[in-house]
Amino acid sequence: MADHKIPARKDVSAENKWNLSSIYKSDEEWEENLKLIPQYTKEVAAFKGKLGSNPETLLQALKAIEKANLQIETVYHYASLKHEADEDDTKASDAYGRALMAYTNMEAELSFVDPELQEIEDSKIREWIAKPEFADYKIFIEKLLYFKKYILSEKEERILSLQGQAAQTPETAFSVLTNVDMNKTFGTVTENGVEKPLTETTWGLFMHSQDRKVREEAYKKFYAKFEEHQNTIAALYSGSVNQDVFSMRARGYESSLHAALYGNKVPVSVYHNLIDCIHKNLPVLHEYYSLRKKALGLDELRHYDVYVPLVKSVETKTSYEEAVEICRKAMAPLGKEYTDRLCSGLLNGWADRYENVGKRSGAFSSGCYIGDPFILLNYHEENIRDVFTMAHEGGHSMHSWYSVHNNPFMCYEYTIFEAEVASTFNEELVFEYLLKNAKTPEMKKYLLAMRADDILATLHRQTMFAEFELKAHEYVENGTPLTPELLRKTYRELLELYFGPEMHFEDNSDMEGLRIPHFYSAFYVYKYATGISAALALAHRVTTGGDKEREDYFKFLKSGGSRYPIESLKIAGVDMESVEPVQAACDTFKDIVEQLKDLL
Ligand SMILES: [Zn+2]
Repeated sequence: MADHKIPARKDVSAENKWNLSSIYKSDEEWEENLKLIPQYTKEVAAFKGKLGSNPETLLQALKAIEKANLQIETVYHYASLKHEADEDDTKASDAYGRALMAYTNMEAELSFVDPELQEIEDSKIREWIAKPEFADYKIFIEKLLYFKKYILSEKEERILSLQGQAAQTPETAFSVLTNVDMNKTFGTVTENGVEKPLTETTWGLFMHSQDRKVREEAYKKFYAKFEEHQNTIAALYSGSVNQDVFSMRARGYESSLHAALYGNKVPVSVYHNLIDCIHKNLPVLHEYYSLRKKALGLDELRHYDVYVPLVKSVETKTSYEEAVEICRKAMAPLGKEYTDRLCSGLLNGWADRYENVGKRSGAFSSGCYIGDPFILLNYHEENIRDVFTMAHEGGHSMHSWYSVHNNPFMCYEYTIFEAEVASTFNEELVFEYLLKNAKTPEMKKYLLAMRADDILATLHRQTMFAEFELKAHEYVENGTPLTPELLRKTYRELLELYFGPEMHFEDNSDMEGLRIPHFYSAFYVYKYATGISAALALAHRVTTGGDKEREDYFKFLKSGGSRYPIESLKIAGVDMESVEPVQAACDTFKDIVEQLKDLL
């Protein structure tokens, strides 16, 4: 695939595009199905006020709910995939807009369902759903009932939901401030004699520059701008944390952390164990940074030196088809059924392979109940990293495939806590395979360095973020206001702790803690760290184990939304309530650092 000229969508050959006919045969069929949504919604709405009357009515209502939800999911999915493949296609974006509107309308009209189900007397509804005819809906209802403990009176719930939109203000304002207002003001950076704009997007590219002057200039200009707005941003973040504390107190949770983890039945000890275990293993991370300093030939390591690749890219060429074969061989420990299904999907219509004009950048996997688990890629054969991306997204898609084929619609979706396990698992297998088959020491070094950076970005860095979020919420819960000074001091202490003695920071390096958008969805990022821990532990378990270990892993893939995440991972063979998986991930990192040390 030549990358000098990016083709228009209409010029991409069919074999390089995903084949959406497993969802709908044509756009006309999609239109017909969109038209059915108001009718399906009405069928559910007819049950309003009657859900608790008797089991027969409830069962009929659940069937109508299932039909309506399946319909909107399928209609929306098809439209969103077509839109992502070509955002310049006005017909596709119009269709997407209509699907989105249908989605929102349906959601509003059916918002009575959950609270009405939760209002049915507990013993009564539990008796009803124990009947075999409720089998497909039992878990959906049980998960709703699980929240009952923290549901307030109808009046109070109404007040909370009315306040919901205003509660979004800190996040919206932060996003507008940093992505729109500030984004024009970062200035420019000179690279190879050319003046280039510095923005939220290009900042990441400059941090990967081999030219240290470029990194330094970008870093300093970037954080200086954030520092100019420190009072505003600290006030916004404080607003967000205060909102979390408000709703946890209104509902009666023990803490903001408890409130955030309750829905997935994740004990708060999982969060604390993660932080404690990473702390214990920080010396290895510090060792890695001193190795980085040596490898880059620096007399002092500064915070703008942490993203530049340790080993410059090696020259490789892997065609799309070759990458599929690498996935096949690397994932052999999962058995032929798995690799055949994945590779056949990758070669026959699951994947949208290459760039085209208007196509979304990056990569994602997007499965739904009807149709194949589709994958959007922007595959480049010169970039070995794209083989990892293929394996990663393929992992998501296979997880979706097994979830869909082993669960009823109402409980097929796995949680975010589990989502990155199957994808990272596959990446690890590809890494091991490529490392074992690397022909030159250069390639070995390159793979090891890339892997070390990937692991630390997901494991150590997200844990540092998680610790910061925890501290910020604890301050507010204990009555200490979040001033810019306090937030910066807290973040700086964490930077110094995690990066260790070799790292030199700038005066405003701690502004990093005020620029992370994820912090506006509190207690989210720790899932990246627990996810990679589970994945590395399971990859080790499967590759060193036998049939039983492999079958256990498949039980997890097939679990879908039928269990809570800690339980489904326990079935696969990792106990996330213990520190073992996190320690196993730290051990993997240590092993890579040691191999790198020998090679560099
Ligand atoms: Zn992923």
